[in-house]
Amino acid sequence: MLSAINSQGRKICLLNHCSHEISLLKKLEWFCPACHSPLILKNGSIKQAHFAHISSDICEAYSENESEAHLTLKYQLAKWFQEQQNDCQIEYYLPALKQIPDLLINHRLAIEIQCSPLSIERFNARTINYLSHGYQVIWLLGEKIRIKSKLTRLQFAMCSFSVHSGVFLWQIDQKALVLIEMLHISLNRSIYFQKQAFNFFQGLIMDHFRLPYQFHSNRLLITLNQTKNKQVVCRGLYYANPQWLSLQALCYQNGLVLQNLTDDFYNPGIFPLFYQPIRFRIEIRRFLKKFRTFSELVMNFTDEFQTPIQINHQLFISALVAFELQCLMRQKILIINKNKFKVINNLNLQISTFEIQSPLQINQWLSKKVRDGERNEERKIIDS
Ligand SMILES: [Zn+2]
Repeated sequence: MLSAINSQGRKICLLNHCSHEISLLKKLEWFCPACHSPLILKNGSIKQAHFAHISSDICEAYSENESEAHLTLKYQLAKWFQEQQNDCQIEYYLPALKQIPDLLINHRLAIEIQCSPLSIERFNARTINYLSHGYQVIWLLGEKIRIKSKLTRLQFAMCSFSVHSGVFLWQIDQKALVLIEMLHISLNRSIYFQKQAFNFFQGLIMDHFRLPYQFHSNRLLITLNQTKNKQVVCRGLYYANPQWLSLQALCYQNGLVLQNLTDDFYNPGIFPLFYQPIRFRIEIRRFLKKFRTFSELVMNFTDEFQTPIQINHQLFISALVAFELQCLMRQKILIINKNKFKVINNLNLQISTFEIQSPLQINQWLSKKVRDGERNEERKIIDS
């Protein structure tokens, strides 16, 4: 930790002191802002100067053993925020939550740098604690737990969503903040994403954090490999994988044959991360025969899919439905008239393939529906 209180109850942060001052501070007595137990100031030659509990088993708020990387990153980010006139509190104890965010920006936005593995239970509990007390939180995944070829349970839990960035999360390395966006998972469980890095001290840091909620160009280019997808399906059925068997049953009920589905069922879409895309597409075709308004369609999907804690479930499903409707419109299966839509083709017919387009081209009418829902999400970060 970088901050502590002295015997008079005054808080200091090592960020604001030079090495000479720190060596003087070392001679004084220091206490934990959360549990008030004594701390020692460690000022070795290798690790960034920091405070540590003399006995760590009593403190609920601080996780001890912060790595050198964690201390340094916290220090760098704090400087970046402060240079740009943001109110940035380092390790500010929030008594109502019994939590200490690494950084608290403008009294509302908590920044958590996560350099080591964390249990999902702990991640969820801490995130809910922030959200239920009116704080926003951004988790930054350190290098040790950064995204590789598969998504871990923790990474999944940390995902957020916006219309412009799709499913996204933030990483941090020694010199940059990294936005991982348009994240999606393929049938064989590999992940695809697009990456943007923002070097420390370049650009306005708050603008970087707002980026996912603002219009920006993204270039998700996925080559559909129909043969490979079919192989995944056939192998799944051959080995009687329950997931594929149940999908096969669903296909039969809807007059389709799983092995013969056209490319558009395999289209990665924009964010098929938390659901089975093929199942979703079969369902939407079925629902289109029953329901005639956007909200009816969305409502019939809302309970079916589990989304990570930081994702607004309703918003996510709306965007997903909108994207699929847009695809069907492009194929002239759907026409939209005022607030109703009408199916003008037999949905059981084989439909031709189509080009994947960016979600930015979503039909105005549909994107408005989604954006109405997102506006609240967006406001939270933009106001910070
Ligand atoms: Zn403590």
